[in-house]
Amino acid sequence: MNILVYINSSNHLAKSALEAVAYAKKIGGTITVVATGSVDDATLGTLGEYGAQKVLVDRSVSTEDSQQVTRLIAKAAESTGAELIVFSHDLVAKAVAPRLSVRLKAGLISGAVDVPNANGQVKVNVFSGKAFGFVSVKSATKIISLLPNSFQPEKSGSACAVEAFDGGAGASVIKVVETKIPEGEIPLPEAELVVSAGRGLKGPENWGMVEDLAKVLGAATACSRPVADIGWRPHHEHVGQTGVAIRPNLYIAAGISGAIQHLAGVNGSKVIVVINTDPEAPFFKAADYGVVGDAFEVLPKLTEAVKKF
Ligand code: FAD
Repeated sequence: MNILVYINSSNHLAKSALEAVAYAKKIGGTITVVATGSVDDATLGTLGEYGAQKVLVDRSVSTEDSQQVTRLIAKAAESTGAELIVFSHDLVAKAVAPRLSVRLKAGLISGAVDVPNANGQVKVNVFSGKAFGFVSVKSATKIISLLPNSFQPEKSGSACAVEAFDGGAGASVIKVVETKIPEGEIPLPEAELVVSAGRGLKGPENWGMVEDLAKVLGAATACSRPVADIGWRPHHEHVGQTGVAIRPNLYIAAGISGAIQHLAGVNGSKVIVVINTDPEAPFFKAADYGVVGDAFEVLPKLTEAVKKF
């Protein structure tokens, strides 16, 4: 089978890109990657170590312009005879995959967490992660978007060739005025450990406790929506249904009630630890470990305990 994997390498090779290639490798076939972004050829070539046979790159395409990206992938799919197109289920995929699905008349399976089973059915997250479904599509060309952190990328091969590709994407209708990349911060969707807090922390002046624990753990920080809405924390930290959806290995939530809209963005986390003064807080139902206690006491104690390791 010819598999085309799209990756958006805006400024570095994200873990989700490696996962998408590893996913294609597990399905099996000839894997070509089509990439946009500014990452250099040598770095793109390392995708060969995860299973890619070749990388096609078109740096003239603006990742922000989903129409351009759609045209690029459609052309790459045609030139490689792709029967399956794989995306990581990120913001770009959410905008591009449905467009591509219509353009190529290709069935789209969105939010996959496993490779197709013997019947060609793919396990997907449904109802904001509250349940699993099994989906199959019958079209000749198929598209799958893979939920981040569902697959562990493993190196087994060697670097592959990287070729410039003219996607014929045309002029962009989007003008990028400014790009801001927070320095030194771990991007939330890529973080394996996340320390998050909500309105229970009473005010932005108390976030030092959250940052201290995140620092000793090497974790990213996140927050509930009201905290970002009030301006206690930046909006890019807001997780949930209307914010960033994350699936870290560890999610520590302090002073967050666990409303369904918050859970929708975090309940795919491998281990959830909840710290809340209210034993009836709904978050405890989704927690693997719970501490009924005051975040102002528990967070500093946790930080001290981690420091001892
Ligand atoms: P609260 O509900 O006020 O809870 C604070 C918690 O802190 C309580 O459980 C309390 O017991 C606990 N607490 C208080 N003091 C302490 C202490 N000292 N130590 C420990 N615990 C303490 N929310 C999101 O987060 N993300 C979303 O994407 C999102 N999208 C939404 C979309 C829609 C359409 C709607 C209607 C709502 C959305 N919300 C979202 C809001 C959501 O419904 C909740 O209102 C919100 O998550 C509550 O935030 P919170 O838990 O920080 O605050």
